[in-house]
Amino acid sequence: MKCDICGKNSAKVRRLTQPVGRDSSSFLVRNVPVVSCLSCGESYLTAETLKELERMRLHWRELTKQEKVPVATFVGAA
Ligand SMILES: [Zn+2]
Repeated sequence: MKCDICGKNSAKVRRLTQPVGRDSSSFLVRNVPVVSCLSCGESYLTAETLKELERMRLHWRELTKQEKVPVATFVGAA
């Protein structure tokens, strides 16, 4: 598909897990379509995806379920 950033036809959609919200109301959304471009290297969410994530954020109480996910904190240098 066409890249919104550089306009070349080398963008691909990948389904990734994205964090939404912050602090006590933050949660993870699986299968978020993230557009990555092979030409310019940008990764971005479309306006439509952002809108849907915003909707999910507003309704997070109904949409989320508790799952036990192992979490590790990265401690190395950048
Ligand atoms: Zn691009």
